[in-house]
Amino acid sequence: MDKIMDKIIVKDLEVYAFHGVLAEEKKLGQKFVVSLEAALDLYKAAENDSLEATVNYAGLCEDAEEFLQNNTFDLIEAAAHHLAIYILAKHTLLEKIRIYIKKPSAPIRKTFRYVAVEVERSWTKAYIGLGSNMGDKRKNIEDAISILGSENSTKVTAVSEMYVTKPLGYIQQEDFVNGAVEIRTLLPPYQLLDFLHSIETQLKRERTIHWGPRTIDLDILFYGDLLISDEKLVVPHLRMHERLFVIKPMCDIAPYITHPLLGKRMLELKAELEKTQALL
Ligand code: ADP
Ligand code: MG
Repeated sequence: MDKIMDKIIVKDLEVYAFHGVLAEEKKLGQKFVVSLEAALDLYKAAENDSLEATVNYAGLCEDAEEFLQNNTFDLIEAAAHHLAIYILAKHTLLEKIRIYIKKPSAPIRKTFRYVAVEVERSWTKAYIGLGSNMGDKRKNIEDAISILGSENSTKVTAVSEMYVTKPLGYIQQEDFVNGAVEIRTLLPPYQLLDFLHSIETQLKRERTIHWGPRTIDLDILFYGDLLISDEKLVVPHLRMHERLFVIKPMCDIAPYITHPLLGKRMLELKAELEKTQALL
């Protein structure tokens, strides 16, 4: 069940800025009217009457104004999207934000009150499995983790121990180092997969032998409690529950979460796998 979310609301903040496809709009500027609904848990702030436990609405107004004045976008879609990411990354108490940008003077020859877009962005907790068996394996994994956390849209929130493990499948290859991380991400699942592939490419992974040697392998283990089953993406990861080298690091960072299809906690899966498998 979804948590009930409290909200901070700013309605119809007027910002003079320079977004638009037309050169005239970028030069002369126009009025934009911004509303935002920021969702967070306000229980503590309310109970203790404490500003520290909430996000100051004055700050939200300033952020929106500054961001929209210091950046120029062709589309208000882009302005709203990037503003959402900027605010969510800056105020870590926020879980979700809905941004509504109206353009009352949009240059179209019609009579209207305004045109507008609305975007909603929220954090999802996800788990990523990491493996490397070429080159400096621990460094490859460290590098991958630091790239993962280097953008506003993804934060690394927990890192497991790293384990030396024997290869499966194509066994004429070096031992692996495996681990797992917990992230908070604003990327939808397929964008997260693209981001992981771009990190694999940056770290010079070459896709040669299936299940063969690799400088880095990054897999989505869980994405919230979402289920996805198609050609490009299977979540939860199809084989994670058969692999001690995935489940053991998962137990370091999230021992009590339940696999949504198997109905078993990470700790239970580990106990079962340890009856028949060892890492080395
Ligand atoms: P593996 O991880 O099984 O050793 P690869 O890393 O080469 O193999 O992945 C092959 C393809 O698996 C990827 O291009 C991707 O589209 C697909 N895939 C399916 N589900 C996932 C997932 N949960 N995480 C990462 N990749 C996945
Ligand atoms: Mg992979």
